[in-house]
Amino acid sequence: MRANGHNNVILTIDQQACYGCRRCLGARVCPSKAIRSIDPGEAPYIDVDLCRECMVCIPACPSGAIIRHDHQR
Ligand code: SF4
Ligand code: SF4
Repeated sequence: MRANGHNNVILTIDQQACYGCRRCLGARVCPSKAIRSIDPGEAPYIDVDLCRECMVCIPACPSGAIIRHDHQR
């Protein structure tokens, strides 16, 4: 897991918990367009270089698959 250089928080999408509703990909969810999808049949991922840790996406996911990780430097 790598840090994105902004602070000590990164977000990931739990591939097991995600059921692919694609709600988090909506244009109004992520202001940085950091939530990306390569294959519509697979869970999206968060581009940590684009993510600004605004946390808007966490409550947007109905399955709680978007996870915040706090870590030490
Ligand atoms: S909103 Fe949650 S369950 Fe839906 S695609 Fe995104 S991460 Fe997966
Ligand atoms: S925390 Fe904010 S910037 Fe990062 S992926 Fe979620 S909505 Fe986008």
